[in-house]
Amino acid sequence: GRETRLRVVLRVRPLTRTETRRGDQRVVHSLSDSTVHRSATSSLGARHDATFGFSAVFDASASQEAVFEGSGMRQLVELAVDGFSCTVFAFGQTGSGKTYTLMGPLSQTEAQPAAPALLGLMQRSFSYLLEQSQSHSSDLALSASYLEIYNEQVRDLLSPGPPCALPLRWSKSRGFYVENQLCVDFESLEAIANLLLQVPLTAGSQRRRTSAHALNRHSSRSHALLTIHIRSQAGREKGCQSIPTHTQTWVPQPGACPSKQGTLCFVDLAGSERVKETGSSGELSVEANNINRSLLALGHCISLLAKPRGKRTHIPYRDSKLTRLLARSLGGSGITLMVACISPSSRCLSETLSTLHYASRACRVTTRP
Ligand code: ADP
Ligand code: MG
Repeated sequence: GRETRLRVVLRVRPLTRTETRRGDQRVVHSLSDSTVHRSATSSLGARHDATFGFSAVFDASASQEAVFEGSGMRQLVELAVDGFSCTVFAFGQTGSGKTYTLMGPLSQTEAQPAAPALLGLMQRSFSYLLEQSQSHSSDLALSASYLEIYNEQVRDLLSPGPPCALPLRWSKSRGFYVENQLCVDFESLEAIANLLLQVPLTAGSQRRRTSAHALNRHSSRSHALLTIHIRSQAGREKGCQSIPTHTQTWVPQPGACPSKQGTLCFVDLAGSERVKETGSSGELSVEANNINRSLLALGHCISLLAKPRGKRTHIPYRDSKLTRLLARSLGGSGITLMVACISPSSRCLSETLSTLHYASRACRVTTRP
């Protein structure tokens, strides 16, 4: 029940080949392993400098492994096994490296997996989780659900067939939850990795809404939430009702043993860029407005949550689906890691600055795990 701050780390990706070719300047430099410096010269010749501090800063040379080890992700997995609700969310403009940080390069498929060194926080967490599950004295039962929020609709990425919107409800005991969400058990690394990749045919990351636009062809226009449910079934002996091994919708079973039930949720947020910069129009602009609206709601909640507890007013989680689903991670009993991703390029300066400010505010948010 102790107040715990959100852990916020920053990742600055390398300049891409396109950015280098077109001669973009690097305007973000890490000064130490926890501060980053941004410098820029305005059109009038005035210099603007700013330094920001975070729990950790990873620069262009940081490996995927360094990010896993240095971000506190390993501890987050351990806490989830211990029964806490843990969330990691990647935030930043399209093309800033959110998906790369979470999942590795986009080119990987089931047939052509990414090189082990390039695997992201998700796969590293899964393998650590399975390691824990094998070495743990008690049995861990692992299951996963995968949702996206697209145009303010919550959709199940694991259910076969065309995506349909699921209702988002609230109850006193469960807080906000998605009704009829599919939850599948898994026991191996391949099974869970395939859940993410296999899926051009059935579900998952390939089915997430993507559309080509000026900033990044793979730009994701939806928020994706992968949740791993971890049940440790310690003391399953006498008089205890067994927990079904394959539940479609996962609900704590009444009468089951007092077991630990933790979650580990990975959130890949849609790009934070402004509509005008992406040149979106028509249907795309409706999407972009929905994305901006939910990110704005998230930013608003974060600003209010960043105030000291005594001075907090009502937190408007109900303003968007995203904030409802993240309510527990942000303001309640969760433990949260935020990975802010930025590009070092001079062309992305205004978005980079907005991500840095957003992330700085998030540093002040506290929860009571
Ligand atoms: P986002 O999900 O934020 O839109 P991506 O993760 O798709 O951004 O990254 C955009 C591009 O930059 C991709 O081609 C990706 O492979 C590359 N990239 C991102 N971060 C890194 C990194 N740390 N090292 C090398 N390439 C990266
Ligand atoms: Mg992405």
